[in-house]
Amino acid sequence: MNASSTPFPPIIIPRSEHSISRAAISPNALKVLYRLKEAGYQGFLVGGAVRDLLLGITPKDFDVATNALPEEVRRLFRNCRLIGRRFRLAHVHFGNEIIEVATFRATAAPEREDTEEADPESEGDGAEGAKAEPAPTYDSEHRAFDQRGRILRDNIYGTIEEDVWRRDFAANGLYYNIEDFSIWDFVDGVRDVQARRLKLIGDPETRYREDPVRMLRAVRFAAKLDFSIEPATEAPLAKLAYLLDGVPPARLFDECLKLFLSGFGVKAYRLLQKYGLFAHLFPLSAAAFALPPYAYAQEMLQRGLMNTDERIAADKAVTPTFLFAVLLWSAVLRELNERQAGPAPDLSQLMQACDTVLRAQQSRVAIPRRFGIPMRELLMLQPRFNRRSGVKSLSILQHPRFRAAYDFLLLRAQVGVADPELAQWWTDIQVLPQEERVALVQARPAEPLTEGTGAAVPGRRRRRRRRGGAART
Ligand code: ATP
Ligand code: MG
Repeated sequence: MNASSTPFPPIIIPRSEHSISRAAISPNALKVLYRLKEAGYQGFLVGGAVRDLLLGITPKDFDVATNALPEEVRRLFRNCRLIGRRFRLAHVHFGNEIIEVATFRATAAPEREDTEEADPESEGDGAEGAKAEPAPTYDSEHRAFDQRGRILRDNIYGTIEEDVWRRDFAANGLYYNIEDFSIWDFVDGVRDVQARRLKLIGDPETRYREDPVRMLRAVRFAAKLDFSIEPATEAPLAKLAYLLDGVPPARLFDECLKLFLSGFGVKAYRLLQKYGLFAHLFPLSAAAFALPPYAYAQEMLQRGLMNTDERIAADKAVTPTFLFAVLLWSAVLRELNERQAGPAPDLSQLMQACDTVLRAQQSRVAIPRRFGIPMRELLMLQPRFNRRSGVKSLSILQHPRFRAAYDFLLLRAQVGVADPELAQWWTDIQVLPQEERVALVQARPAEPLTEGTGAAVPGRRRRRRRRGGAART
């Protein structure tokens, strides 16, 4: 293939003029690239791996692009599986590492096929299926668009010269050629990497409309890599934020995990707020943050994200359960306060408030039940911390969600909505031997039997009843 004969010849940066060494590339990715080359195909390392290697960062994963068709790739590797229905991708498995091999594509299709997404509630719990989308329209090249200009599908494989235009940012559009270890740069991507800048390839508004997740990707890379977002790429974000409403909720769930659980959650959150994207992911939380009684929940979220970032930096485990508890707490509280009748809401009301919020949230960011249920348990344990007399009060220490619920209590204490003395009690009691724990709880005066939720908003209580006939419209 003669690159210089195409309408868009790349700048070819020879090995002697760039810093990417094969020693920094995953041996498995190299194996795949060499095998493609030996079989007479083109093999390029692409995307984030090239960007990260130029920055001197260890890439998260290594993606390969080739002119071999998916079936041809499969024939080359025994440990290979094809995934996807329309755009088939080859996954070459090496133990835990998967090298994704994509055949060059002809047009700017989104990375994931929306139509293939599993419905988050389809885990056997009897929820309804995906909601119907308006009928797609087709252009002359058989691409399908929805009514907002989002590409739905496209099944045409192409050449590298075509493949580059489907990539999102110029910094992500670089190709490292296994043939001679050169970098092919069609879009001035090397300059963007050096300038630490994110610039969408092509017209930004069109590219966001094709795939609104690119707005979240802009935020993610800006937060993760400390890149700036170039003005023309940045300008349409606030105006187009609403396009996120049309993205399948399961895909947004994946993106949220990447945004909040990758070690740069605080920064990602600030950028999401800056561009008005957050309200389209978590509308109930965003609405609650804007109301004075729940404003502290935003500080709780930022502290929670800070803790998460620190845990990731220290190589400790993090869980989506805790993340979603902090993200949705304000919305749950608001719901609870709106439905509560008396001064002490009971546990069943708290449970209903959790369920109402979780259900409403599914239409934006779908939280799978395997995280939603433990999240509810975590929140339901909060009122139980108030109970400290009697041996029964100790059983919470054995609860599988105790640790997360205790961390949540600490956060509440830090922002002044739980008693610091209460938090300290639960901190101290954990390290005591059982006899001393028992002595402590037996020494405390008996508490009234009514269990408050421990969730009430200080100083303000609404008494409007949701379920009252008159309030229903
Ligand atoms: P990470 O460090 O998170 O892996 P990455 O840049 O490798 O970052 P991936 O999601 O692994 O991101 O995607 C690999 C490449 O595929 C990207 O660099 C980009 O070129 C392209 N790509 C991924 N998602 C999109 C998208 N939604 N629109 C356009 N191009 C995309
Ligand atoms: Mg990647």
